[in-house]
Amino acid sequence: MRKYTMKVRILGCGSSFGVPLIGNKFGKCDPNNDKNFRTRPSILISHNDKNILIDSGPDLRNQLLKAKCNNINAVLYTHQHADHIHGINDLRALSLNINKKIPAWGSQETINYLLSNFNYIFKDSKNYESIMETNIIKDRFKIEDLNIQSFQHNHGKIDCTTYILDNFAYTTDIKKFYDDSIDKLKGIKKWIVGCLRMDEHPSHASFEQIIDYVKYIKPEKTYLTHMTALLDYETLKKDCPINVEPAYDNLLFEV
Ligand SMILES: [Zn+2]
Ligand SMILES: [Zn+2]
Repeated sequence: MRKYTMKVRILGCGSSFGVPLIGNKFGKCDPNNDKNFRTRPSILISHNDKNILIDSGPDLRNQLLKAKCNNINAVLYTHQHADHIHGINDLRALSLNINKKIPAWGSQETINYLLSNFNYIFKDSKNYESIMETNIIKDRFKIEDLNIQSFQHNHGKIDCTTYILDNFAYTTDIKKFYDDSIDKLKGIKKWIVGCLRMDEHPSHASFEQIIDYVKYIKPEKTYLTHMTALLDYETLKKDCPINVEPAYDNLLFEV
């Protein structure tokens, strides 16, 4: 018998513009399907009463209110793009709730970006107390009692971090894997992977390429995230092979 269950909640499965785009633009998405309303990409992992957030996008406040989450023990950052970071200011309220600094984890590159662009979050000033502290990820590290693995994948001109927590992995904003790093995902049960649109993009793989990765890794279940308004939920679901489906905001599953 396993000692614990890990719960994963998709806080947001949209890409940088969200769906609908401002101007009430739904693209190819059916506006009558709630599953097509997508906020910016982020997930919440709950494990033994601890909450770990992956990325703090611009919709964070509303996402955490909806999830009734009052406490975050750590934030794992995937990369420095605005759709994954720019809700960082909302973490002030959580830091006040727990009355301590929230650890932020990321690659050296991501942490450098955070420190130079959100100085007040990490460094005390005369009038303002900082609310987060930084930690650089390693290939393997631990948060609370959770073992985590990480590796870098390619996202066009920059790298982005894949995180593996137990037998669950999160890979967003992927153009391709480097060398044989994809093999680290062999054996995972559930995988959330970014799928921007059907066609290839300079920084994102095509749907076809993502499905090739799924066929190679063979997770029990794969959810597609980071989707633009070009991907309608029901249409995409029909195009997905068995055991693959589009995510939707507030989807909750156990690992
Ligand atoms: Zn990105
Ligand atoms: Zn993104």
